[in-house]
Amino acid sequence: MKNNVQAFKALIRRYESITLEEIKQNWEGDGDDTMRVLTGFGHKIKCTLCQAAGYIQFIVGGMPDCTKWLYTLVQSDAHPYECMRGSETYQNIEKASTPEELLKAVRQRAQYMRKILTKLGYKQP
Ligand SMILES: [Zn+2]
Repeated sequence: MKNNVQAFKALIRRYESITLEEIKQNWEGDGDDTMRVLTGFGHKIKCTLCQAAGYIQFIVGGMPDCTKWLYTLVQSDAHPYECMRGSETYQNIEKASTPEELLKAVRQRAQYMRKILTKLGYKQP
């Protein structure tokens, strides 16, 4: 299986195209519950990055393969299938308490992801 770079790029485009109206229409009371609905954020089965990196194969008995996981290639302590839970841009999505805050956090997450692509030598989407 290839790494999750295509899903990574698709998620960047998704994060950059989400609108305030879409967030308001799907508002679940806080940032991470709302993004869970919109993109599968923070949910290993629904998360498109976890899917593309083989999370399902992993839970049925495989070993995590860090080479398929873009985040672990730039941050050695990022565990596969955690999508960098500890990072600041991730936490800002989790703690967003208004749709406006969440939109800002999602856009910042996309910028952060673009930096990771550059760091790893991939083209921007
Ligand atoms: Zn994930």
